[in-house]
Amino acid sequence: MPRNAATAVRVALVGFRSDENSSFLRGAAEAPPLIRSALWSESSNASTESGVELSEANVHDAGDFAPTPGAAAGDAFFPTIERAIAGLLDRNLAPISLGGDHAITYPILRAFARRHPRLSILHFDAHPDLYDEFEGNRASHACPFARIMEEGLAARLVQVGLRTINAHQRAQIERFGVEAIAMKDFREGRPIAFDGPVYVSFDMDGLDPAFAPGVSHREPGGLTTRQALDVIAGVRVPILGADVVEFNPRMDPTGITAMVCAKLVKEIAGKMLGEVS
Ligand code: MN
Ligand code: MN
Repeated sequence: MPRNAATAVRVALVGFRSDENSSFLRGAAEAPPLIRSALWSESSNASTESGVELSEANVHDAGDFAPTPGAAAGDAFFPTIERAIAGLLDRNLAPISLGGDHAITYPILRAFARRHPRLSILHFDAHPDLYDEFEGNRASHACPFARIMEEGLAARLVQVGLRTINAHQRAQIERFGVEAIAMKDFREGRPIAFDGPVYVSFDMDGLDPAFAPGVSHREPGGLTTRQALDVIAGVRVPILGADVVEFNPRMDPTGITAMVCAKLVKEIAGKMLGEVS
């Protein structure tokens, strides 16, 4: 019998099909259905590495939300995202959001912070995403963690995989007390210690583009898929929510990045269900 068979808390998958706050390429809005079909593809099975069996009984599909077609850059879609996440939390579901560009993480955290004011964020990314504004857009996918830290929506922000830190972002890291682990300083086998519940925000460009080429900003020298999975597996506190963002199917001719997204979703979901069983 799967050890999560009787669990009351379930995971919810929810897609946010927005990429109007991308700065370089469009395409991330097309990702959610491809991640879902990779997750349930018969090329693999629904057993996680931790031994949890995913099924429709413990993974609820909350569907997709999309901005108005042709929406301009900005925060017009954010209240929809915030309400969707709040609604899932009200039902005691643990949301895993499928992006979409990384701008979605700010409204997601607004919903989380009302219920979980002492949340720590574990953020995988090639980029710190701490710009005060980017090309005049404060809702840009280059800015979500500046908004999150300004509003005090997280107790801690730990960033892993960084390899594009410039002077402005270094100043923002200092200003907000971000624990930034640059890729050049990353070492395998050193679990990151947390003393309270965690939210995982996973930008696919945190991985090396050799493993996940389907991103808008290919930045060589990143994490292997295995290294990222090991960091997640090493979290010893409950994971209450997560997002997998910035997968751009237009940059993924072989479909491998969709499978990597699905693998991350699967192992994060297994971790969530394992924690509550
Ligand atoms: Mn990034
Ligand atoms: Mn990002």
